[in-house]
Amino acid sequence: MSPKVSRRNFLKKSTAAGMGAALISHMAVENVMAQTPAPPGSLPVVISSVNGLEAVKKAFEMIKGGSDPLDAVIAGVNIVEDDPNDMTVGYGGLPNEDGEVELDASCMHGPTCRAGSVGALKFIKNPSTVAKLIMDRSNRIMLVGEGALKFALAHGFKKENLLTDKSRELWLKWKDNLSTHDDWEPPHDKEGNPITHGTINCNAVDARGNIAGVNSTSGMAFKVAGRVGDSPIIGAGLYVDNEVGAAGSTGHGEANIKVVGAHTVVEFMRDGASPEEACVRTLKRIVEMQKKAPKWWGELQNVAYYAINKRGQFGAAAIYGETRYAIATREGVRRLECAYLFKKPAGAN
Ligand code: ASP
Repeated sequence: MSPKVSRRNFLKKSTAAGMGAALISHMAVENVMAQTPAPPGSLPVVISSVNGLEAVKKAFEMIKGGSDPLDAVIAGVNIVEDDPNDMTVGYGGLPNEDGEVELDASCMHGPTCRAGSVGALKFIKNPSTVAKLIMDRSNRIMLVGEGALKFALAHGFKKENLLTDKSRELWLKWKDNLSTHDDWEPPHDKEGNPITHGTINCNAVDARGNIAGVNSTSGMAFKVAGRVGDSPIIGAGLYVDNEVGAAGSTGHGEANIKVVGAHTVVEFMRDGASPEEACVRTLKRIVEMQKKAPKWWGELQNVAYYAINKRGQFGAAAIYGETRYAIATREGVRRLECAYLFKKPAGAN
């Protein structure tokens, strides 16, 4: 090093040069994504978790009719939130350990780089709409609990009892089975699979390449009151970058928060990975973390990611097989199998 170049200046210069290089390669990738036109007929695309068949259908139709992609995915997700038969989202969602339904949701609007989210919201069946309201009507991103409820009521939402007879029955059954000797017994669906959690994630890209996403859930069944999962955490349960794509999650929220999953998926796509590959690589991080976790952290539970990019390519992956997702494209509305890392173990959901 020349004596004239002090260590400090050298560091300053080399860091700036390094940053410049990093920025250039980053921008180059972004530009490829933003400037390579989507193949004709490949847009719009709407993807969601398996419970979102009606949601993707609705969102796709709205986008085709000229709606903003965020309005479209929220309208789609509202259908599932209103449905008492989906016991993992909105009205009829399984309650916390005290028998109270606490909902989490988030949304992101790519074109305006805005986000909104709500955690542990009681009495309001459409937390995704409240998340959008926070985004539209404040310069805050996340409200929780009492404050979120107050905000919703101030904007005209009405308090409702979200516990259906069916969800109360399952909560009582869970309570009946609690003892110091046995594990709690989760409720089961018609096929005999345990229902312990679930979520809807729905992401869309419209014909102009504008992107939006939403995530909504009642979280883990019979959770500790006040527990907030990944769904309302921007970057974990949902992430949208209008230059790249969108991703969202369902499944074990705590595992996903630790890898900031949705953001990680989008960053892999930014660096050139396909949506499916980006989901798979992020899931592998969860598996790696699990290996280092203490025993009491528990077994590896399922997590799934659902991703689209600006060009209308889409993909989804789950830790365990037999996980599906819903998709709407010009070819129609259908369910497809997620890529996966491991075969589904007996008894997993
Ligand atoms: N991710 C949700 C949570 O942890 C639950 C789920 O999707 O199954 O709250």
